[in-house]
Amino acid sequence: MTHPLVTYRVVCAQNQRNLYHRVGNVAREDSVLSTMQDVPLLISRILTHGSTVHGSSRVTTWTGEPEPHRRTFAEIGARAARLAHALRDELGVRGDDRVGTLMWNNAEHVEAYFAVPSMGAVLHTLNLRLPAEQLVWIINHAADKAVIVNGSLIPLLAPLLPHLPTVEHIVVSGPGDRAPLAGATARVHEYEELIAGRPDHYDWPELDERQAAAMCYTSGTTGDPKGVVYSHRSVYLHSMQVNMAQSMGLTDQDTSLVVVPQFHVNAWGLPHATFMTGVNMLMPDRFLQPAPLAGMIESERPTHAAAVPTIWQGLLGELTARPRDVSSLTQVTIGGAACPPSLMAAFDKLGMRVCHAWGMTETSPLGTVARPPAHAVGTDEEFRYRVTQGRFPAGVEARLTGPDGAHLPWDGESAGELEVRGAWIAGAYYNGPDAEPLRPGDKFSADGWLKTGDVGTISPDGYLTLTDRAKDVIKSGGEWISSVELENALMSHPDVAEAAVVAVPDDKWGERPLATVVLRPGASADFQALRTFLAEEVRIARWQLPERWTTVESVPKTSVGKFDKKVLRRQYAEGELEVTRL
Ligand code: AMP
Repeated sequence: MTHPLVTYRVVCAQNQRNLYHRVGNVAREDSVLSTMQDVPLLISRILTHGSTVHGSSRVTTWTGEPEPHRRTFAEIGARAARLAHALRDELGVRGDDRVGTLMWNNAEHVEAYFAVPSMGAVLHTLNLRLPAEQLVWIINHAADKAVIVNGSLIPLLAPLLPHLPTVEHIVVSGPGDRAPLAGATARVHEYEELIAGRPDHYDWPELDERQAAAMCYTSGTTGDPKGVVYSHRSVYLHSMQVNMAQSMGLTDQDTSLVVVPQFHVNAWGLPHATFMTGVNMLMPDRFLQPAPLAGMIESERPTHAAAVPTIWQGLLGELTARPRDVSSLTQVTIGGAACPPSLMAAFDKLGMRVCHAWGMTETSPLGTVARPPAHAVGTDEEFRYRVTQGRFPAGVEARLTGPDGAHLPWDGESAGELEVRGAWIAGAYYNGPDAEPLRPGDKFSADGWLKTGDVGTISPDGYLTLTDRAKDVIKSGGEWISSVELENALMSHPDVAEAAVVAVPDDKWGERPLATVVLRPGASADFQALRTFLAEEVRIARWQLPERWTTVESVPKTSVGKFDKKVLRRQYAEGELEVTRL
């Protein structure tokens, strides 16, 4: 009999039936077996640990009232158990049923984060900034059985309900008018009433760690959104990585302001990671504007915060206009889009140290973190390392692939498409019952690596520098121009609040850069001055300097707050932008 000692499996959470797609199987009869216990890495274990060992740590939710709402991890643990009882006994959630959440970042959302996967069902976080038709598409594609919704988001959900045949139950949490749900065919429940009086304890099932735990759809800039399904194992391992000192490295002495939405790649893993280590969470709920964010930093004194660059740009403007005491915030994780070096330098001046990180929905998301190497700390080199996308952790393997498919050296110069592989990296998309579990080609290489669509270089010591999305690279006269480099250079000018650069067609060169800038109030710089600044101060090569310029009130943003370059390209193509040619 052969013993399947070493079995490599790519798990495809196909239709929640745990289809394991075996891509290789190495078995040896004469092997020494490990003597270690085989304890499945389950989200329920993270919950049990957090709510006991770190039972006094807290989730604080901003309410807009003088006093925020506070709940301990122990209370969250008990309420998650009650929620699981309610979902099972009252709503009939069974097996791998999908439970959607249309919620802000708050304590109840954390309860759903733990209750749903721990009982064996699949948490499906819904991006509340998506257009209605995409939300409908996603909920139907995932076949959500129930949706937990914040009261303030009922106006968004109610009109969609007639188009959501699988949704049998709506659970409403928090303030907001319930009236729009009056005619719903789905049963409507009140969250607090639903969980009231149920047991504080749930016998969490001993699941297979490879089972689907949570799902999240990519923002779908091209084609239909794609579903990424995280397993208990991938969430568990990713959480351990988030907690490493070389990543976020937080402890129970910290409070993390979780601005990154819980619907954006599991809030970058923070709710799970914090329950492992007892880090307190400060949740902004729907108060995501710069002024309330500055207010909650001043009064709740978080030590850490995480969000995309556009949030920090807004906060910087607010803090410059109305300075507050933000001295508690010594670590700020910025990711989701490139962090302009000028933004990092501005936050350094305020005493907030920015740590740049790269990741994707498909990478759980932690892919790289820009902690400088020991030899660079305190030297002129340090900042140069900090503005890269960062270093790969041990759990993420990386390679660069050139246009001809050849793998490129890590020499800091050869630019190619980044491909990654690892235990918390997607190996397939959730495609529905009839689809092939693994689809080489489009997003995955023939040997199973994720093709990120990001283009960049890797230094010999493993630091990634991204120059573009593959689809955003500007190909001018056969040479590549980095839109990110031009944007960072423009945003380092004191008169520029935001800048986005896209490729536009050009008869002579094929493509040329179009610079779209948002000027600060009272700015005096004109396009010629900005061009001269790029050439003379930043020393951008002459042939890379944009000759097409336009100003906008704000750069269009995607549903997760990133620059939406596809909108800019369309606006240019349709003649909607007033373009000056220098
Ligand atoms: P999403 O899955 O919506 O989070 O988008 C993932 C994409 O965001 C990546 O493939 C990158 O193009 C971009 N991205 C994320 N973090 C960074 C970063 N630090 N620098 C540049 N681009 C980033």
